[in-house]
Amino acid sequence: SLQGKVALVTGSTSGIGLGIARALAAAEADIMLNGFGDAGQIEALRADIAATHGVKVGYHGADISKPAQIAAMVADAAKTLGPVDILVNNAGIQFTASVEEFPDDRWDQVIAINLSGVFHGMKAAIPGMKAKGWGRIINIASAHGLVASPQKVAYVAAKHGVVGMTKVAAIELANSGVTVNAICPGWVLTPLVEKQLHDRAGREGKTLEQVTHDLVAEKQPMVKFTTPEQIGGLAVFLCSDAAATITGTPLSIDGGWTAQ
Ligand code: NAD
Repeated sequence: SLQGKVALVTGSTSGIGLGIARALAAAEADIMLNGFGDAGQIEALRADIAATHGVKVGYHGADISKPAQIAAMVADAAKTLGPVDILVNNAGIQFTASVEEFPDDRWDQVIAINLSGVFHGMKAAIPGMKAKGWGRIINIASAHGLVASPQKVAYVAAKHGVVGMTKVAAIELANSGVTVNAICPGWVLTPLVEKQLHDRAGREGKTLEQVTHDLVAEKQPMVKFTTPEQIGGLAVFLCSDAAATITGTPLSIDGGWTAQ
């Protein structure tokens, strides 16, 4: 059980982050939620997770593209719940265009959230973990942290960078009781992917059902989405004693995408 541990999950108002937050709460960790969305819906989510699992759940609206807000969120978690024991750097966005047409401001935004946000999160949380002699950092990279696809230059650059910085932090913290790993999901059906499906259906004049099959089948031998609950299960495992010597590793959960 993770009872008494405090877990901060960035981008946990939706999709994979929410699945991870729920799984950690089910394992009895107290949770700090983060992410954008309707204030009423977020409060309902916060109250639901707290009531369902009998754990403390807070929320901080830090914008992960702003380093000072990340540091303030980590400090707020420590003040209201206790020092962060488990940090899941999950917040991320996508934008697609060819390299020569990729807007500069979109490049900067994807890099700020998907790459620099992970650095600033680790930087803010590591001192507290070292002081306790225990910590788990889980960075949500992607199959795109290991292999590339066209039209995703900023995302692929950021996710490869996340895998790289995971290894650096793991080596630095190897004897401090803190492990640092990356989870590399294949396709997970979340709002981030739903947008790509709608764009593609419009572009190709196909049904949503057809493009959903095509999207998964062109990358994964296993024609099946991974669920946020399954990613949550892997995150809980990485927090367990069985995973105490797993560090600096990108763990694929991708239906065989990167086996090819
Ligand atoms: P999602 O759009 O459902 O959720 C993204 C979350 O991040 C939301 O809670 C959103 O509010 C939050 N967020 C976005 N920008 C933010 C910011 N600036 N500050 C704070 N929070 C912010 O997406 P998802 O599919 O659940 O993606 C979560 C992570 O998983 C991302 O890092 C993504 O790259 C990664 N991933 C997703 C897939 C997939 O197939 N869905 C595959 C591999 C990796």
